[in-house]
Parts: sequence; structure tokens; C-alpha cells
Amino acid sequence: MNVLVINCGSSSLKYQLLNMQDESVLAIGLAERIGIEGSQLKHETLGKQKIVLQKPMPNHKEAIKIVLEVLTDKELGVIASLDEIQAVGHRVVHGGEKFASSVLITEEVIEAMEECIELAPLHNPPNIIGIRACQELMPNVPMVGVFDTAFHQTMPEYSYIYPLPYELYKELGIRKYGFHGTSHKYVSQRLGEITGQDIKKMKIVSCHLGNGASLAAIQNGQSMDTSMGLTPLEGLAMGTRSGNLDPAIITFLMEKKNLSIDEVNNLMNKESGVLGISGVSSDFRDIEDAVKQGNKRAQLALDKYYFIVRKYIGSYAAAMGGLDAVIFTAGLGENSPDARATICEGLEFLGIEIDPVKNNVRGKETLISKEGTKVQVYLIPTNEELMIARDTEIIVKDLTKA
Ligand code: AMP
Repeated sequence: MNVLVINCGSSSLKYQLLNMQDESVLAIGLAERIGIEGSQLKHETLGKQKIVLQKPMPNHKEAIKIVLEVLTDKELGVIASLDEIQAVGHRVVHGGEKFASSVLITEEVIEAMEECIELAPLHNPPNIIGIRACQELMPNVPMVGVFDTAFHQTMPEYSYIYPLPYELYKELGIRKYGFHGTSHKYVSQRLGEITGQDIKKMKIVSCHLGNGASLAAIQNGQSMDTSMGLTPLEGLAMGTRSGNLDPAIITFLMEKKNLSIDEVNNLMNKESGVLGISGVSSDFRDIEDAVKQGNKRAQLALDKYYFIVRKYIGSYAAAMGGLDAVIFTAGLGENSPDARATICEGLEFLGIEIDPVKNNVRGKETLISKEGTKVQVYLIPTNEELMIARDTEIIVKDLTKA
């Protein structure tokens, strides 16, 4: 079965076409600046070539149409016709409490996704637009929704509830939902596949450290806590997001700086995190470079970031009553030996000890802890697209059986 995986952002669209027989990627690409002047498509056919197409893409439907044309193009294409796409898997950011697993997309499912818009006003609308556009262009192809929040729906009530008046949870759905679920699920399952261990018997902390970043405490193969919350703003400091703060800072800032709700939201989401502290960049490569040149604020940003991640690992070990494995994934987690080593410094009392030689690796599945230490520490590159394609295949296969 060939599965097309679609991830629609507000002005972008990422896609992959996978052959699920061997889980190979046939084509991968990114449409950018959708609805804006200068839209373009970067398309890569594995084993063939990379191309950049400059074409007007006034909306997501037009972008998907161009993607489908390229996929079936006589020269550039990887399939002869659209009949060779048997299913489409869509990444959907917020599934609220309605979706604890991936689901076949029906009109009722789209309505439920629409009800989640107020929880993810920036993310869910483009996800839904992408689904509608695909439905119009491929009306007979089954589609599956895979939610970033779904994996965390197993969190116990005491984990997801906020210490606010309980009525606000009932009335407005204010609770911890968590994100990056597809990534946390993939790397934890992959740990089981690589090592042959039963992850249902393990206590795992998964560290997704990218531009957005979150940790998950995974016990019995299920998420029991995660650092992101009602929105992706909670938890770790990130590239541009503040993460956890004294909540009183928000009203204090609004008053002192005369900020509107939008302005304070922008400050917390776009101007804070390691960018805010360093004043250099939200990109960890730039910050690491600035540190090498002696920039003290860049060093402070890294020190703060690593300190927070280290504290979360310790608190999740306490939350689960033990720890068997730590997984590092996403941009920084996969590519920065320094980040992994520094985060783990001082965690020897938990049984975490990094082997500096094994840790000198980027983007490759590797056991990086010292031999014989209590906690296995792994680098496992994430693959959210493959996870989406796997879920899609399972659901669509079941459909044909029924
Ligand atoms: P992601 O959101 O998973 O794409 O991760 C993006 C983040 O990973 C950015 O902040 C990058 O700076 C960081 N990153 C990617 N490659 C490296 C690298 N070689 N060293 C340090 N950080 C990196």
C-alpha cells in the first residue's frame, strides 16, 4: 500500500509518499509560502533528483494539486497515476479529549476536529483545510487523522488536571493535553524494536528537543505525563517559547509594559526561550557558535535550557518511581552531542552515565550510555511521517477487511 502523508501548516505543506510494503520513502517535499507571493515547491524523489518549482499556490488545494501532478509526472514522478495512492494520512495537531487514537476521517470526525479549533486556533484550521482539499482532489481515497495529542490521552487525571477551579476544566476544557505525541510514541516503540525489550515493562523518559521541545514520561508503553500543556507553550524553554514561568509575570508585564493579549502572547511564544535570553538566535547551532566566541548570554541560555531538561528528567523518574531508559530525539537531541552530555551531567545518581565516545554521533540510532549502567540512554531519530503512515495503513486495511 502507498500512503501519502500530509502535514499542513498555515502557509506550508510537508508531504511524503511511502510504500508500506517495505516502509520506503518514494518522494518527499515541502510547499512553502502558500497564499503568499513567491510560493514554491521543493520536491525530492529518492534515488532520482531534487527539484524546486516556482509556481503560484494561492491556497492549499492548489498546492496539493501541484504535489499530485509532480508525483504522477512522467519524468519527475514516482507513480503512474493517482490510483497508486491507496490512503492519505493527515497530521492533526489538536484532538482534544475526543481522539485518543488515530481515526478514519468522516464528516463527523471533521466536525469534531472543528470543535477543537478553539484549543489550537493556529494549527487545526490549516490541518482541516488540507483534509478538505485532499478529499476534493482524491474523493475515493480513504483518509486518516493522526493527532499530536492522542498519545497523551492516557495521562491519569491527577497528571492532566491544573490546580484551577475544576469548573473551568468542565466548561472550557482547560487541562494538559500535550503535543509531539506521534514522536514520543514512535521513539518509545522504536526502543522496543531495537532492543527487543518489552516497553510495557519499562519506565522511559523521551526528550523531543527540537525548535519546539517536550519531554514525556512513558510507563507501561503509555504517556503518564508530558511537559507541554493546554498549548505547546508550557514546559521547557524552547527556541522562542518561554515554557514555564510564574503565571503572575503575565499580568505584571501587561500592566508595566501596557501590553495587549496578542502582544503578551507574541512575547511568550515568539520572543522568549533561548532567543530571548541569548539575544542571538532561536537556532541552537547559532547559540553554540556564539558560546564558542565567548558570548555570555548565549552560554546563559544554554545553561538555563539544559538545567530545565535535567530537572524534568529527574522529576519524571520520581513521577514513575524509577527509570530504565532516556531517549533523545528531534533536531537538537539527534544532532548535538554537547547538549546530550550536558543535560545528563549530574544525573549519575539516577544511573545515567553517557559514554563520550558513543555519544559522538549525529542522527543515527545509537546506545550512548556507558556499558553496564542502570539507565539505557539512546539517540533515536524521530520519524513522525512513518508513524502517521503506519497508523493510516492499519486503519485502512481494517476497512477493507470489514
Ligand atoms: P526540529 O524542530 O526538530 O527541526 O529541530 C530544530 C532545532 O534543532 C534547531 O534549533 C536547530 O538549531 C537544532 N539543530 C539541528 N541541527 C543541529 C546541530 N547539528 N547542532 C545543534 N543543534 C541543531
